[in-house]
Amino acid sequence: MTGPSKIKHIGMAVSDLESAKRFYEESLGLNVEREETLGEMKIAFVPVGEVNIELIQSTTEDGVIAKFIAKRGEGVHHIAYEVEDVSSSLEELKARGVKLVDETPREGAGGTAVAFVHPKSAHGVLTELVGRKRNA
Ligand code: ZN
Repeated sequence: MTGPSKIKHIGMAVSDLESAKRFYEESLGLNVEREETLGEMKIAFVPVGEVNIELIQSTTEDGVIAKFIAKRGEGVHHIAYEVEDVSSSLEELKARGVKLVDETPREGAGGTAVAFVHPKSAHGVLTELVGRKRNA
């Protein structure tokens, strides 16, 4: 298997995106590069070197991020790895018996192909694969 080439971003579940942005910008001295809405999520990207911090706020009370925060509080939600091709990585993981959230790639932030590996197969960490093509 061609393994991931780098960590692409770290997804953080936040209850208030504006307040989280203030922490990263004013306290840590980083800059929000861009923001977008993806389904029920508002997302802000904060680059740190080659890695992005992906701040995610739910726009609905029953969204996945809202449920995560209700259960576990704010914090690290997932780690995203960059892979050459999400489809072929999924095939390889499936063949190794890894439990997946997504059997096929879907569209993620920035128009990239993404897929999630189930935390049960990843020692408790929700793991995202991001295709290399576009920046996210
Ligand atoms: Zn992500």
